[in-house]
Amino acid sequence: MAIHNEYILKLIDEVKARNAGENEFHQAVYEVLESLEPVIQKHPEYVTRGVLDMIVEPERIIKFRVPWVDDGGKVHVNRGFRVQFNSAIGPYKGGIRFHPSVNESIIKFLGFEQTFKNSLTGLPIGGGKGGSDFDPKGKSDNEIMRFCQSFMTELSKYIGADTDVPAGDIGVGAREIGYMFGQYKRLRDEYTGVLTGKGLTYGGSLARKEATGFGLCYFTDEMLRDNGKSFKNARVIISGSGNVAIYAAQKAMELGATVVAMSDSNGYVIDEDGIDLDLIKEIKEVKRERISEYAAERENAFYRVGCKNIWTVPCDIALPCATQNELDLEGAKNLTKNSCFCVAEGANMPCTPDAVAHLQANGVLFAPAKAANAGGVATSALEMSQNSMRYSWTFEEVDAKLHQIMINIYKNCSAAAKEYGVDKNLVAGANIAGFLKVAEAMKAQGVV
Ligand code: NDP
Repeated sequence: MAIHNEYILKLIDEVKARNAGENEFHQAVYEVLESLEPVIQKHPEYVTRGVLDMIVEPERIIKFRVPWVDDGGKVHVNRGFRVQFNSAIGPYKGGIRFHPSVNESIIKFLGFEQTFKNSLTGLPIGGGKGGSDFDPKGKSDNEIMRFCQSFMTELSKYIGADTDVPAGDIGVGAREIGYMFGQYKRLRDEYTGVLTGKGLTYGGSLARKEATGFGLCYFTDEMLRDNGKSFKNARVIISGSGNVAIYAAQKAMELGATVVAMSDSNGYVIDEDGIDLDLIKEIKEVKRERISEYAAERENAFYRVGCKNIWTVPCDIALPCATQNELDLEGAKNLTKNSCFCVAEGANMPCTPDAVAHLQANGVLFAPAKAANAGGVATSALEMSQNSMRYSWTFEEVDAKLHQIMINIYKNCSAAAKEYGVDKNLVAGANIAGFLKVAEAMKAQGVV
């Protein structure tokens, strides 16, 4: 889709100039703004009241030093970030990522996307994101703990249960959340739900661990049903083998699909008998090893080096659940060549813009991340509610709420797409539906 509106084109130029070199952030802003052309035709006040100018600028960016000492006594220095992007509809909410690729552009793109995703959940949460260029791979438990404590010592000055509530993301799971929560509690001497994704013994919510992957499949299931298809007997491939990928695989299997391939950042495994998820959990969640170990354990499975080639594996449904820009045009062409009929994004922005355009042009049902993977943050918001009430719901209660939230997100995105003349385009529908609630709240709150 080309952009014609002069105001939007000028705003994109300004974002590029003001955030020079931040390609991921430019990509995310472009993708949202191009969907908003029909919206500002109908609502010119979003331009005249400065809503669009304000929405592309984070409210606050915090950048800090994270010094820590390894097991050999050597001092290391990493960089920490928290982008508090938009608090129009609630306290900032969004994950923390530990990965060597983390920089300001990546955290800003994630915080920007998070604002619209959180709006789509229908729950009162604003958008934020954080992280560090720290690489948890190969570190001992004690090193991870010291890093998390140092990171939280600085971050604790800027967050709080009613201000900003971080969660996990790539490289940040239950272990890291536990160490960060412990340090926050010690520094602030208060027991509040300042982080989500906590362990079940200290305020975590049942079903949070499963929520992003399960939610992805609930959303996809609804989209498939609406188009006369289903997971039943479908061949599914899933990139990644982390939190999102594992629980997407579990729910896809429960819905009758066969998952035949999964990956990590080094390569992928194919198992025509269907992936043995208990074995994947053992390798990735318990032993924290490489996915190549899987092929060594299963007679008919084999391993291929190079994670991007997973898209050459024939499938009906592809669920990219690893990282941004992991599925490019070549990957998309491989999928359509093999008659894949559905791609649903579990990771944030995993498909490049030309890949999305190719998939949509070839009639592939496409579910964009900010709608399809919103189940994680929605359940985090349910964890916040339970913490505030000093109460916990059962797994079934949380799962039922999650399921309904994902159905509602699908319906709202579809309805928005239809209303604004882009029927069936869920990328545009998600951007429009997510934007409208935030924009109305910003308009009501004035120039702040
Ligand atoms: P994890 O750290 O649990 O797993 C990440 C997986 O992706 C691992 O298999 C990892 O492989 C792989 N991976 C990471 N970086 C790369 C890379 N550069 N190239 C190829 N593969 C890579 O993270 P999550 O599962 O939590 O997150 C996955 C995605 O989902 C991210 O985009 C995240 O932002 C998004 N997301 C997560 C939510 C959550 O609740 N956890 C909520 C919403 C979105 P390896 O082990 O080799 O590093």
